[in-house]
Amino acid sequence: MRVKMSSGSRKGPPKHQNEYAWKPNGSRTINPTEVGGKLRPYSEVTGVCLRCKEQIEWKRKYGKYKPLTEPAKCQRCSKRNVRQAYHNLCNGCAKEHSICAKCSCRVGNIVGRDISEIEAEQKKLEEVTIFLIYECLSSFSLLLWLLIKDL
Ligand SMILES: [Zn+2]
Ligand SMILES: [Zn+2]
Repeated sequence: MRVKMSSGSRKGPPKHQNEYAWKPNGSRTINPTEVGGKLRPYSEVTGVCLRCKEQIEWKRKYGKYKPLTEPAKCQRCSKRNVRQAYHNLCNGCAKEHSICAKCSCRVGNIVGRDISEIEAEQKKLEEVTIFLIYECLSSFSLLLWLLIKDL
């Protein structure tokens, strides 16, 4: 027995026209191992003003972000030191002049900190810890010496 499928006999309200919300990235899907994918998220946007940060994050969100494949040239010191896409200045120049690495506007508060700054801070912290341990040990041995010298 054959069942005839007729398209005109469906009853009820039509199904939603926009069943699928508009998807960012369109035809391009980022696979998880690619930079920007789930397993390799982009590094934080640093060295720029809040407005530029938002712009760059917008690009990331909508799949328009093109990460740098190699360091770009800084427009101020001309060194190939720009490691973040869409930046015109290297982190050093941006920080030295307190300007945004992208739009070069003067900013009192540049978002984020670059890795060298964090590393320097951690190193300092380590040095302080070592110093404290050393201090502690030397005062301990002094105490020990005071205790035993009269024995
Ligand atoms: Zn520079
Ligand atoms: Zn900016």
